[in-house]
Amino acid sequence: MTEIIITGTGVPHLEPGRAGPGVLVQHGKVRLQFDAGRATALRLVEAGVRVGQLSALFVTHHHSDHLTGLTDVLFARWLEAHGRFTPLPVIAPNGPATRFLERMMDPWVDDLLVRQEHVDRHDRPDPEVRGFDIADEPVVVWRHDSGVQVTARSVHHEPVMPAVGYRVDTPDGSVVISGDTMVCDEMAELAAGVDVLVHEAFRREALSPLFTEMPHLRHIAEYHADTVQLGALAQRIGVPRLVLTHLIPAPIAGGTTEHDFIDDVRRGGYTGEVTVASDLTRLTIG
Ligand SMILES: [Zn+2]
Ligand SMILES: [Zn+2]
Repeated sequence: MTEIIITGTGVPHLEPGRAGPGVLVQHGKVRLQFDAGRATALRLVEAGVRVGQLSALFVTHHHSDHLTGLTDVLFARWLEAHGRFTPLPVIAPNGPATRFLERMMDPWVDDLLVRQEHVDRHDRPDPEVRGFDIADEPVVVWRHDSGVQVTARSVHHEPVMPAVGYRVDTPDGSVVISGDTMVCDEMAELAAGVDVLVHEAFRREALSPLFTEMPHLRHIAEYHADTVQLGALAQRIGVPRLVLTHLIPAPIAGGTTEHDFIDDVRRGGYTGEVTVASDLTRLTIG
């Protein structure tokens, strides 16, 4: 069985109960985390997964909301594994994300020195950075002899470049995690034939009346996935299950609801199963 757990459905703006973006995919002892927004380490342990059990972590792009929880993941993995620590492999497209990863623990050097001396320890929690170059074609970035494979594909989140989505294939089936992107043909190509598409969601129609008053919202709309267009894409490629996350705007009492997101993808023509994710939403495939 392959399990998908949404570890965070939030965005940069703080909302109660919504950790920063993240998705866990697990198949047996293979546990793969995609992005690590705020409170990811906490959500993982709430889901029954210790950060020391992660096989690898994948970064979709260098935007703070997808990375601010990573320091906590790395520290917890290191502190909980005294004497049996292995660095966390972190896979990311070469560029700003890998530059960030290489130096992200450096501001903690004074704390690390104190901790190392205090318990006579000589290792550090830094990630094992594995960068890859993106091309016009999908690229396999991780493989395991259990039959699990991860493929990356560049998507459209300009001006943030590079930005990728990931496809995970296991013996049970397949899932795509979009990262942040506009609705695009590259995502359609990556997600063709998968069992589950976990996609970011932006309700353009709900927010467009505010564009004049708040022009920055128009810029935000330019690099996120309009929910109506997303419904059309999901129908076109025939994906049976669509999971919406990275919800803009977040469903709140008296505001946008989960049903509004579902109505949007239905108006786009999608007839499959839709889940508007909450933190710790679980799905299985296989
Ligand atoms: Zn984001
Ligand atoms: Zn982003």
